[in-house]
Amino acid sequence: MVSEKVVENILDETGLDKEELEEKVNEKMEEFSGLVSEEGALHLVAKEEGVEISEASDKDLDIDNIVPEMRNVNLKARVTNILDANTFTRDDGDEGKVQNIVLGDNTGTIRVTLWDEQTEIAEKIDEGDAIEIQNAYTVEDDRENAELRLGDESQVKMADDDEVPEVESPGTSETQEADLREVKSEGASYRIKGMVVNVYTSNPFYNRCPECGTSVREDDDGDFTCEDHGEVKAPDKALAVSAVIDDGTANMRAVFFRDLARELLEIGEEVEEEGDTSAVEEAAESALGKELELEGRTRYNDYFGRLEIIANEVKNVDAKQELEDLLEIMEA
Ligand SMILES: [Zn+2]
Repeated sequence: MVSEKVVENILDETGLDKEELEEKVNEKMEEFSGLVSEEGALHLVAKEEGVEISEASDKDLDIDNIVPEMRNVNLKARVTNILDANTFTRDDGDEGKVQNIVLGDNTGTIRVTLWDEQTEIAEKIDEGDAIEIQNAYTVEDDRENAELRLGDESQVKMADDDEVPEVESPGTSETQEADLREVKSEGASYRIKGMVVNVYTSNPFYNRCPECGTSVREDDDGDFTCEDHGEVKAPDKALAVSAVIDDGTANMRAVFFRDLARELLEIGEEVEEEGDTSAVEEAAESALGKELELEGRTRYNDYFGRLEIIANEVKNVDAKQELEDLLEIMEA
């Protein structure tokens, strides 16, 4: 809901009339291809016009109304994901620590970055907890999403469980059809369509425990150990390939495991069983330029600092057939 007071305030301070403001807000919403709500767009316009919107300080915001470069952000949300902490060395040689958590409400998700002693917060909460954050601020991440940060004035506390609706776990959330430039949420299901423009084939196989199927680690002596089953003499080979998919609006890395990787590369099970790397390389060559439709879940790749999609369904799209179908419809 866009508050009238906020609108009046912007009109007063900018000298714009209502129509002009409305046009700017609509332009903003278009610029973000419908990903920003009206209130979010209004905040962005206000920011561009140099107007401080202070009203946000006393009310909780829905996540889809939180945009980059906001101050005094308050929200109540569920913890949907707690990622591993990473340590790094600062320029001055001190060790730093950074950890991300993801919060969700019925309108979307947002990443919260915790630095150094703030990471203790992540130790005190569990996924599914209802929490309340006051006086946080946002920055823009590398995908132009708002990322929440905590300052000296910020407060984080457990919220009353009744006050915060349950958020559907990512496992049950609906799959949305999207252009790649619209793929921005983490842990969400998308159906995308695009062309394979690159396939990475270095180390396409990993080793699995034959008993439980989890990946096993190789030590310096070349021995494999499963956490549950101890030493594994003859691990199974399993295929994992990542590819870059481009749909003309953006490109994105997609990861394919096992049968999905075989589907992508159109190779048989024996290639996987034998761990035949050269067959994989050859198949990767011929997969280039292929049209795919895939469904998958996004995850944030901390190592590369970007979102990628883990395929859980792959379909080869016959571009020629599609064209013929289209012509048929047009002629009919
Ligand atoms: Zn095992």
